[in-house]
Amino acid sequence: MTWSEGCVCARTGCKMSTETDPHQVRVLATLNADGTRRWLRPRLSPGVFLVWRRVVAYFLIVLFAVLPFWKMGGKPVFLINIPDRELNLFGNTFRPTDTILMALLMMILFFVIFLVTALFGRVWCGWACPQTVYMEFLYRPIERLLEGTPGKKRSIAKARGARKVAKYILYLLASMFLAHTFLAYFVGVERLYEWVRQSPVEHPMSFIVVVSTTVLMLVDFGYFREQTCLVMCPYGRIQAAMLDRHSLVVMYDEGRGEPRGRKRRGSKKADISLDVVQREAGGAGDCVDCQMCVTTCPTGIDIREGLQMECIGCAQCIDACDVVMEKVGRAKGLIRYSSQAIMGGEVESILRARVFVYPFIVLVLVGMLTVMMVGRESAEAQLLPRQGSPFYTLGTGEISNQVRVRILNRGQDATAYTIGVDDGSARIVIDKNPRTIGANEMEIVGFQVIVAPEVFSARGKYELAFTVTGDDEFSHKLYFKMQGPVGGTSGGGRGMEESE
Ligand code: SF4
Ligand code: SF4
Repeated sequence: MTWSEGCVCARTGCKMSTETDPHQVRVLATLNADGTRRWLRPRLSPGVFLVWRRVVAYFLIVLFAVLPFWKMGGKPVFLINIPDRELNLFGNTFRPTDTILMALLMMILFFVIFLVTALFGRVWCGWACPQTVYMEFLYRPIERLLEGTPGKKRSIAKARGARKVAKYILYLLASMFLAHTFLAYFVGVERLYEWVRQSPVEHPMSFIVVVSTTVLMLVDFGYFREQTCLVMCPYGRIQAAMLDRHSLVVMYDEGRGEPRGRKRRGSKKADISLDVVQREAGGAGDCVDCQMCVTTCPTGIDIREGLQMECIGCAQCIDACDVVMEKVGRAKGLIRYSSQAIMGGEVESILRARVFVYPFIVLVLVGMLTVMMVGRESAEAQLLPRQGSPFYTLGTGEISNQVRVRILNRGQDATAYTIGVDDGSARIVIDKNPRTIGANEMEIVGFQVIVAPEVFSARGKYELAFTVTGDDEFSHKLYFKMQGPVGGTSGGGRGMEESE
């Protein structure tokens, strides 16, 4: 057969754009010989892994949709609250001041990823990554429903007009739903619900964010697809450093499959067993070179060429090959989850350094995090930078400084906080003292501290301390450097005159 512009490959269903079969000359899995993109339309390969992946994927899709509504202690279980600059995690609130706790959390996450990858390869990519889950179990099924799939009656080549429009309408709806769910993780469901019910004119910025996220989803799942895994995702690129010869990966058993050979020219599928007889006579391997493992691969690679960066470990090729092996009367598992060590004839060993080092590090980090969380005070009090004039000279001749204290109530109940000054020569003027702050709320309290001008050093400095106490036994000292007139006179400072 001669390949020409507009032809559709019988094996993969992808459009040809060269005079020759691009599958023979291709360098990259998703790039044709002439540099154009090779669009992938992977076959669906029913099998035991597909069943389990569907179970996991639909569970995750439901979980992702309901998680923003799930609350613990009155707070979302997981919310990266951008407007309020805080992270809610299982009833705990982390703020920018919790830098060490956040760093510990991130490190735990990274080391867990390292450990999972060392043990189970790219199981995250193939089974749980949102990119794979939504692409393979939401967008791809919509496409197959409306445009067909290679090898089925309704060919993708015939999918035109209304079907394509319907596909993109469904894509748009799915993207809108995903974009809103995604945003709920950053702004909270209540705020999102409010935005959705109001006119875009009232919240132009939020509207732009919602629309751009929808467009982003549409472009990602409708156009970019597997390129996100191949080009954009850093995890795929660094996996080589995280895998070792004993990691569980999807592998082709070369020793058993080679030398591979196509079925007899002109033979139909049903004749495949005849080919097996001929193959056995010729001493051929188990691989009948049917290409089913290639045409089902969502990243378009041929797993028989060995472990590749593009392999996301989805196991679709395992299901595809198992069906073929069953048909030709051979043992399943020509492609299977295994390790490079096992395939190379080495003794499998889970006793390797990284399997112990990573969990040890994770345990240490979790221990540190637990100790810090348990020892965390019920509130946080912090002095904020000065605003305005450094000091004021009152009508009485006394010197006043403006102070701002940020109080964060981390507890689950409203608490009254009192600010006191630990210095007999100073007094404070404050609107409301004590001040009640709601659970998980923060307030900035402003007040004046007043002292006699004589207390200042020749350089116009005087240090004193405040104590913030809560009615829940919280107590915290804050040290404050007052500024006053240099040399003990108001004329030398940068202050202002003010009557009390
Ligand atoms: S599906 Fe199995 S038999 Fe067919 S080409 Fe792939 S490895 Fe060979
Ligand atoms: S080679 Fe197999 S496991 Fe890897 S991405 Fe392709 S189908 Fe999935």
